[in-house]
Amino acid sequence: MDSDRPHDALSVALEGNVVATPIAYGEAGSVTPMMRQYQEIKAANPDSLLFYRMGDFYELFFQDAEIASRALGIVLTKRGKHNGADIPMCGVPVVRSDEYLHKLIAAGFRVAVCEQTEDPAEAKKRGAKSVVARGVTRLITAGTLTEDTLLDARRNNYLAAIVRARTSSPDDAALFALAYLDISTAEFRVMECDRLALAAEIARIEPGEIIVSDALYGDPELAPYLRTLPVVTPLTRDVFDGATAERRLASYFAVATTESFGTFSRLELTAAAACITYVERTQLGHRPPLSPPTREPVGSSLMIDAATRANLELMRTLSGERRGSLGDAIDRTVTVAGARLLGTRLAAPLTDPEAIARRLDAVALFCADSAARADVRVQLAAAPDLARSLARLVLGRGGPRDLSAIRDGLAAATQLARRLATLEALPEEISDAATALAAPDGAIIATLGAALADDLPYMKRDGAFVRAGYDGTLDETRGLRDESRRVVAALQARYADETGVRALKVRHNNVLGYFIEVTQQHGEKLLSSPHSATFIHRQTLAGQVRFTTTELAALEAKIASAADRALAMELEIFDKLAALVTGAAEPIKRAALALSMLDVAAALGHLAVERDYVRPEVDGSLDFVIEGGRHPVVEQALQKDGGPFVANDCDLSPPAGTGAGRIYVVTGPNMAGKSTFLRQNALIAVLAQMGSFVPAKRARIGVVDRLFSRVGAADDLARGRSTFMVEMVETAAILNQAGERALVILDEIGRGTATFDGLSIAWAAIEHLHETNKCRALFATHFHELTALSQKLARLHNATVRVKEWHGDVVFLHEVVAGAADRSYGIQVAKLAGLPGAVIERAKLVLAQLESHDRMSPARTLIDDLPLFAATRALPVPKSETDELAAALAALNPDEMSPKEALEALYALKGKLVRKT
Ligand code: ADP
Ligand code: MG
Repeated sequence: MDSDRPHDALSVALEGNVVATPIAYGEAGSVTPMMRQYQEIKAANPDSLLFYRMGDFYELFFQDAEIASRALGIVLTKRGKHNGADIPMCGVPVVRSDEYLHKLIAAGFRVAVCEQTEDPAEAKKRGAKSVVARGVTRLITAGTLTEDTLLDARRNNYLAAIVRARTSSPDDAALFALAYLDISTAEFRVMECDRLALAAEIARIEPGEIIVSDALYGDPELAPYLRTLPVVTPLTRDVFDGATAERRLASYFAVATTESFGTFSRLELTAAAACITYVERTQLGHRPPLSPPTREPVGSSLMIDAATRANLELMRTLSGERRGSLGDAIDRTVTVAGARLLGTRLAAPLTDPEAIARRLDAVALFCADSAARADVRVQLAAAPDLARSLARLVLGRGGPRDLSAIRDGLAAATQLARRLATLEALPEEISDAATALAAPDGAIIATLGAALADDLPYMKRDGAFVRAGYDGTLDETRGLRDESRRVVAALQARYADETGVRALKVRHNNVLGYFIEVTQQHGEKLLSSPHSATFIHRQTLAGQVRFTTTELAALEAKIASAADRALAMELEIFDKLAALVTGAAEPIKRAALALSMLDVAAALGHLAVERDYVRPEVDGSLDFVIEGGRHPVVEQALQKDGGPFVANDCDLSPPAGTGAGRIYVVTGPNMAGKSTFLRQNALIAVLAQMGSFVPAKRARIGVVDRLFSRVGAADDLARGRSTFMVEMVETAAILNQAGERALVILDEIGRGTATFDGLSIAWAAIEHLHETNKCRALFATHFHELTALSQKLARLHNATVRVKEWHGDVVFLHEVVAGAADRSYGIQVAKLAGLPGAVIERAKLVLAQLESHDRMSPARTLIDDLPLFAATRALPVPKSETDELAAALAALNPDEMSPKEALEALYALKGKLVRKT
């Protein structure tokens, strides 16, 4: 990539325009002053790749260079010697450093950015051998990013800290505290939780980086789990010191005590302080505009473990894409901050019916008032990302465009506040937002509006962002600079005239400054009399010769000083404007939050109208009544193909007098719509509790506190781990955890093993859900035998997805009705899938035989023989035998058999079975 760039020229140009041997590298055996500086800085940052600034490049040396060249795919060079050995080196251009940083951070590295902290000219004054002063200005880690180029605008990027209480006995449920914050948006929360909840919370938050103590990192119990997480950074014990935690927090927020933030346990304070300390370390003293930590009580949000999130494809599909996920299907936000808040709410649906109702009230307003909805969405669309621009400005990392983002964001906020004021009877959430939107001082907008130019550069050091007319002295200085540039142009014309060299050009570069350039052939002319009196030779290149003149040099000095002064003035103005903004950080932050909240409410209102969603009733009961429910994602996908989605009812409410929810056992052939039905009900619960309208005619949901969803291994190939073990581990988690308020979705559990194993496990699991967990559940299965359980289990309801047989073909009606599937229609489905006709016919014959045998099989009689939770009887068919049958079946090749051979094979197979039973 950058393999052919001239390193020598670079170090020459960068170390203060000295044309001499590169300063960076000494002779064999010696350590140059620069290397000494490098090594000191590197020693202070051993865990980070050191980006060592040299002019327009960040250079990496030694092992860092080897690592980075591999990770970035850039060429590793060797330059100079250190203690007699070559020094490996690679570098990235500063202007493109973001994209390289992005790759390194994504690959899990940390980067220490080391800048030149003085002008190379200053260093030169100290002597020819002196090294430019440098210092690390920032540590870049995955959890502490602020740059738009490094962040996903539509997602939060959290830094999380996990601490564990020292428990007295190993049997104690280990208690953890989890703190997490987003320095780019100021959010900061903390909570206590047990081991299981911890994993669920981490799955919800998806931190960009997690910090833990060295001890926890090496803890044999936690380590395997931590290794599954993307970026975990172990830190020394002092960061997690409980004794100093409260003091560190208080000092960050410049308060005497943290009591005003609420009551926190010592463990929570420790986790929060660890986050703060890490932020201070990585930002090197800068304090991002964090909000004080707020406590998130466990249970305030619907607990959804990692596997369930994946199965339900809440934020991304099983194959890892956003497209096709629930989040993607319902996102109608028009701002990136709104998209982030929607994601946060979707990841953490609420459990308090009143809080849910408050959100639904806001959505209802925009659902009902389409004019307000349209206006608000148009005005929102003009609002840039206030929160992240504010964070960058506070961190001294902002640019001109961050100032204009604040200007435009606040202008949109003011307009929106005005629009909301025209509405009557605002629901609480909206009226709170309206207040916050009106709060920031209008003078900020006016000042920024007057000061900023129309076209803004990305970096402030590029200048030209202050509007002409804003500052008289600046205008004057700019005039001087521009005037001198015109003089340069005139000078070029004059020299061309005097020398008769038409192609004479005055050019500029960073090494030589202004110079006169002519081609080789004209060079001779200028080098000889009389022109040699005026033109001073500077450089001869392959095709060109370069000169200067005393006049040009004088002009250059004038231009440079005018340009320097103009830029210095602009930077001063920038600092003043930035200070104006950061001085109002609090109200701006609140306005930013209000904008995102408004966006979410209006977007969900828009979605509800667009897709005909209804307001759900969420209460404290254990009911679960969905009338005419639809799958929010499948429905949209089908609509694109022109097909209708068949709506279905579901009622898991406790039957009268039972006090516990129902279990649906859903049977039906493959492709009938079982999985879709199961998931749509789970998704409707998620949507309702996050405060969204839902795809149904009517929905009443008694708050769900935990949601579980598991798919049998055979159905779970997309995850690439179709092991029966995983399926069982996950099923065990549900049976051990689900309480009466849980909603459990089990899809084809028991599929990953031999039939009778699977059936028995499914059977026992249903009994356990019914008798012990007593939760609301949906259980899809291909084991028809399970439908017999409804005779024994009072709250079990058999449902089936209807199909119609038509001329020997199966037609899927996607309609869920009470009852059990009469048969599996596997052969019809196989026919639809295009299996050869001969195979289909043959399979029908085999099926008929097998079914006549099945009638005599013991499965039918299980229901009578097996009392609930009776000790399990050895099953009649041992595993080794099914293996043997499977092997025999696999050895057959129906296409090559004569009818007689086939029949014989069938008898032989049957013989094997009969012999053993
Ligand atoms: P099963 O789990 O019974 O094998 P799925 O739930 O995977 O079946 O559904 C198979 C396909 O049928 C889906 O991909 C979808 O396209 C279609 N489908 C499912 N339910 C419906 C419905 N209610 N209305 C219309 N099409 C549906
Ligand atoms: Mg299915």
